[in-house]
Amino acid sequence: MPYDLSQQPSPRPRLLASRAVARGGAALTVAVLTAVTLAGCGGSSGSGAAPGGPEETGTAPSAAPSGAAPAPRGSDTPETPSGDAKPATPGRGPLAGRVVVIDPGHNPGNFRHAREINRHVDIGTNSKECDTTGTATNDGYTEAAFTLDVSHRLRTLLEKQGATVRFTQDGDRPYGPCVDERARIGNAAGADAVVSIHADGSGSGNRGFHVIHPALVKRGAADTTEIVGPSRELAERIAGKFVQATGSAPANYIGGATGLDERGDLGGLNLSTVPKVFVECGNMRDAKDAALLRSSQWRQKAAQGIAEGITTYLLG
Ligand code: ZN
Repeated sequence: MPYDLSQQPSPRPRLLASRAVARGGAALTVAVLTAVTLAGCGGSSGSGAAPGGPEETGTAPSAAPSGAAPAPRGSDTPETPSGDAKPATPGRGPLAGRVVVIDPGHNPGNFRHAREINRHVDIGTNSKECDTTGTATNDGYTEAAFTLDVSHRLRTLLEKQGATVRFTQDGDRPYGPCVDERARIGNAAGADAVVSIHADGSGSGNRGFHVIHPALVKRGAADTTEIVGPSRELAERIAGKFVQATGSAPANYIGGATGLDERGDLGGLNLSTVPKVFVECGNMRDAKDAALLRSSQWRQKAAQGIAEGITTYLLG
């Protein structure tokens, strides 16, 4: 694969992920930051507050499958065992007693609830849409299906390590939750880490993953003072392990090839009181990235990388 970094030596456990990411970035032959014309999950707005910009869930309506009906759950590739399995040794393992909240971006039902998900909610800095549909590949594999699949795999891996895992949604409600409720779920759980799973909806040719972490925001109900530092570390850990596990490179269109992007305009981060990041696993609107995102084998690697990043973060 173009971004195969599998031959890279494994960094020491405490090696900052940003260094590993930097090595991955060096493999890129093109480092030109390309303007994003189609806002995906992250909106690619860069650092700092961007009132009125796209929410974490945003994408252009054109990204939705025609007819606004969600594609069948799952992809066209064979499924490996999902995350439905229970941990073999609940409460035991290196992550015993640790709580991880997984936030699968969007909801397969959002397509059918435009009015509800378009209503604005208070995100501290301003107000934004409750949620959006998420993006999709050009042939209709929805981000909502992708995020649930990766989240199930991630849950299985974390529970095997003894973690207590909770979801913000599991396709088990008509739509949502709204971004403010997603944040509240993590807060109420007293989570040690919250990871929101997404895939981006950027332009063709924009490739790779990035991990979004919160900027310092203190306005209204938002105060990220206590979570900026640990969230950044969580993001670095995940980015480094994601490179190793998937062989994917950091995004070539955002974050300066670091795989990291600090943002102050996302309600799901601004309203969090516990360490939280968004993982944009790839760009669904790029054919090569889409082929990876559709692959169950690749999704397993993605979940593995995220799980390892969380684990190293929690175990310090
Ligand atoms: Zn998204």
